Amino acid sequence: MTERTILALGGNAFAAPGAPLTMARQFEFAKLVFQSLSPLLLDDRELIISHGNGPQVGHMLIRVEEALGKAYAVPLEVCVAESEGELGYVITQTLHNVLDEAGRHRPIASILTQVVVDQDDPAFQHPTKAIGPFYTSAQADEVHRRGFPLRKEAERGFRRIVPSPHPREIVDVDVIESLLRAGVLVVAAGGGGIPVIREGAQLRGVEAVVDKDLTSALLGTLIEARLLLILTDVPCAYLNFNTPDQTPLGRIGITEAQQLLDEAHFGEGSMQPKIEAGIQFSRRPDCRTIICNVDNLDQALQGLAGTIIEHD
Ligand code: ADP
Ligand code: MG
Repeated sequence: MTERTILALGGNAFAAPGAPLTMARQFEFAKLVFQSLSPLLLDDRELIISHGNGPQVGHMLIRVEEALGKAYAVPLEVCVAESEGELGYVITQTLHNVLDEAGRHRPIASILTQVVVDQDDPAFQHPTKAIGPFYTSAQADEVHRRGFPLRKEAERGFRRIVPSPHPREIVDVDVIESLLRAGVLVVAAGGGGIPVIREGAQLRGVEAVVDKDLTSALLGTLIEARLLLILTDVPCAYLNFNTPDQTPLGRIGITEAQQLLDEAHFGEGSMQPKIEAGIQFSRRPDCRTIICNVDNLDQALQGLAGTIIEHD
C-alpha cells in the first residue's frame, strides 16, 4: 500500500535561484522537477501537489501597477487566485506530458482553493510578509499614498508588507477528497490558498497571503494524508544555520522539533513554517514530514537523508 501524500513544492521548482522568470523557463523547470519526482508519480499513490507563488505574484503586482488607469486593479487575493491558475496550468500540463513519456495516464485536476483565516488573526494588525518588487524611497511614498504599508529591507529598498494569517479551514476540502478517491492527481492550495474570511455563512476575500507550508499541513491533516513532503532548495533543515557550527538535522520527534523551534534555529518565513508544518502534520500517529530537495529525494523517502519529523 502506498501512502496518501501531500507534496509542497518550493519556489525553486519553477526557476533557478536568481534567474529571470519567464513562462518558458517555468515549463522547462517544472519538467525537470517532475521527471525527478517520477518515483512518486508512477507508484499510483493518492497525491496532492501544492506550490509556492511568491515570484509569480510579485510579477503580477508589477503588471497591476504599470497598468494603473488603463486596466482595472487586481487585489492581492485575486493575484493569488490568478497564480493558482497560472501554476495550476503549468503543473497539470507538465504532469500530463511527463506521465505520457513514461507511458502512463492519470486524470489530473487543479483546484482553485479558498482558505479561511480568522478576521481577528493578530497578523492583520501586524503585517510581516514582504511581497512584490523593491521600491526607491520616492516610489515607496507613492505606493504608501495608495494605502499600502511598506518596510525598508536592508540595502535593497522598500517592499510592501502584508498580513500572513494562519490557515484555519480549507473551503474546498470535500471536492479535493472526492477527486483523490476517484484516482485524480490533484493540484491544490497553491500559494497557500486564496485567503478568505467567513461573514456568517458568506465568504469574502482579504488582502493577505497564507504560508504554503502551513496550508499544506492543514490540508494534509484534513484529508488524513500520511506523508507531507516539503521540497525546497536545501537538502535538510540545519541547526545553527549559516554559522561554523551548522549541523544537519536528521530524524526527530515533534517534541524535539518544538524545542528547536523555540530555540529559534529556523529562519522566520522560510524554514520556520516548514518545521511548524511538520509538527502540526506529524501530530497524528504513523504520519511523517520530510523536508528535502530534489537531489536527495530518493534517499529521504528511504529515511536516509533530509529532515524527517515524526510522531513521538
Ligand atoms: P521555499 O520556496 O521552498 O518555501 P524558502 O526560501 O521559503 O523556500 O525556504 C528555504 C530556505 O530557508 C533555504 O534556502 C534557507 O536559506 C532558509 N533557511 C532558514 N533557516 C534555515 C535552517 N535552519 N536550515 C535550512 N535552511 C534554512
Ligand atoms: Mg517558503
